[in-house]
Amino acid sequence: MPVLVDGEPRAGVIARLCAELGAIAHSTETRRLRTKSRDRFLQNPMLRDLLRGRNAEIFIAPRDKAELGAAVAACARHRVPITVRGAGSGQFGQGVPLNGGAVIDVTALAGVIGWHGDRGRRVPTTVRALTGTVVADIDAAIRPSGWELRMHPSTAQKATVGGYIAGGHAGVGSCQWGILRDTGNITALEVMTVEEHPRLIEVRGRDVNSVHHAYGANGIITEVELPVAPAWEWHELVISFPEFEQAARFSVDVCHSDGVLKKVVSPHAHPLPRYFPGLSGLVPDGEAMVLVMVAVQSVTDVEDLVRANGGRIRYRCLEGKGAYGVPLYEFTWGHSLLHYQRHDENLVGLMALYPSENLYESIVRVHREFADLGPLHVEMKRIDGGLTCQGSPVFAFQSRAHLAEVTERLQGAGLSVASPHTPVLGAGGMKPWGPKEASFKQEFDPYGLLGQGKLDDAVASDLLTSTALPNKGWSYRLTS
Ligand SMILES: Cc1cc2nc3c(=O)[nH]c(=O)nc-3n(C[C@H](O)[C@H](O)[C@H](O)COP(=O)(O)OP(=O)(O)OC[C@H]3O[C@@H](n4cnc5c(N)ncnc54)[C@H](O)[C@@H]3O)c2cc1C
Repeated sequence: MPVLVDGEPRAGVIARLCAELGAIAHSTETRRLRTKSRDRFLQNPMLRDLLRGRNAEIFIAPRDKAELGAAVAACARHRVPITVRGAGSGQFGQGVPLNGGAVIDVTALAGVIGWHGDRGRRVPTTVRALTGTVVADIDAAIRPSGWELRMHPSTAQKATVGGYIAGGHAGVGSCQWGILRDTGNITALEVMTVEEHPRLIEVRGRDVNSVHHAYGANGIITEVELPVAPAWEWHELVISFPEFEQAARFSVDVCHSDGVLKKVVSPHAHPLPRYFPGLSGLVPDGEAMVLVMVAVQSVTDVEDLVRANGGRIRYRCLEGKGAYGVPLYEFTWGHSLLHYQRHDENLVGLMALYPSENLYESIVRVHREFADLGPLHVEMKRIDGGLTCQGSPVFAFQSRAHLAEVTERLQGAGLSVASPHTPVLGAGGMKPWGPKEASFKQEFDPYGLLGQGKLDDAVASDLLTSTALPNKGWSYRLTS
């Protein structure tokens, strides 16, 4: 495929780019390019073959913001597409250079910059970190002050904070605080423009949502500022219920109990508990499981709710001290599917949102009506001020036509479905893209070098023919 940039073969452009990068670390070595062009899309049976082989032509690893600026300026001069890379843990192919060009690794831009305090009382109200900072390192830095991040992905031990903001959407803490997109959950972003003379722009307030979850298409995040929450002594609970209906009732009840301080409520129908070897033996065969993280002062209330719903707490420990060797949250959210796929690599799901009204009834209805398809896993979360949950039956991938059929069935059952089976933003359906996003794109990326293949170009339309599903996506109360 002869790729041209302004009429010049791309290979020539890349050679001149290399020369201009000088001392900034870069590589065009094939193996390196292949490794750094992959994220976790290999987990996805529909994307596995489709995205394999889409590699960058150059890998660049700036050491700091000045080097990042110089590399971005050089790419802008030569009109070379850019894909920014954090830890590469995105699951939808967000981190794949879909149209070649440069992968710029920002993991060296790491470190907590500081926190804004409350009038000298050394109480952090927000914490600010460079984009490549590992999410768990932010918590490690501020926890001695008694505070922590409000929410984090289940990949917190590896994911960068910039990658989380650009590629993720919610996680551990979302059953209490809502999703990243909810007003107030991202305080500010510093964003670098992609131009011959890159600028750093501070984005605050609801404007952050034009950059958040844009898969790196709307500017390069260089710093992230997030609000904090009290760092309680968290306890991990593995709870079993004879029937999934009881697990669902408990999950909804505990989340509706606003006085109970919780971080994770993650119900799994039988036989899903068996797919977690790390938890094996804790849940009797045939029973449903709910994984919970709760603050120490709320444990008694959770015990009451468990009893009231006919369940039993099978295991309890301090956060991170479980016999299973990893934090309990590494069995929840995106990690759940990872564990299921160790049992059967073809297992998949859809990202269905359940209506807040009659939430319990809706979960139980899907559990029963879709029993032929597979066992249900959902994550409880708040969104737009209401309680909901996200997830679907877990089933074996057959074909895109089958996924489309399941999508229609779930929508017919009253759920809003987003698709984790495409890197194209509009087709995924989690991120609204309106005039505001388009005008940010114009300002931050005037040459359209970021996120090629994820918006509305020829590569994206090509990908759509193999990945689009009839999903209508999610909608939000506040659209911009
Ligand atoms: C097992 C597993 C569990 C997961 N659990 C969760 C979860 O609980 N919640 C959740 O929200 N997500 C989850 N995810 C997906 C999630 O996107 C990532 O885990 C993580 O937050 C991304 O961080 P990263 O550093 O790996 O980013 P990457 O994968 O490197 O990048 C993600 C996206 O952001 C872009 N990007 C990266 N850095 C920047 C930057 N500085 N500026 C602009 N764009 C940038 C990339 O181009 C890419 O499009 C999970 C993924 C896996 C594999």
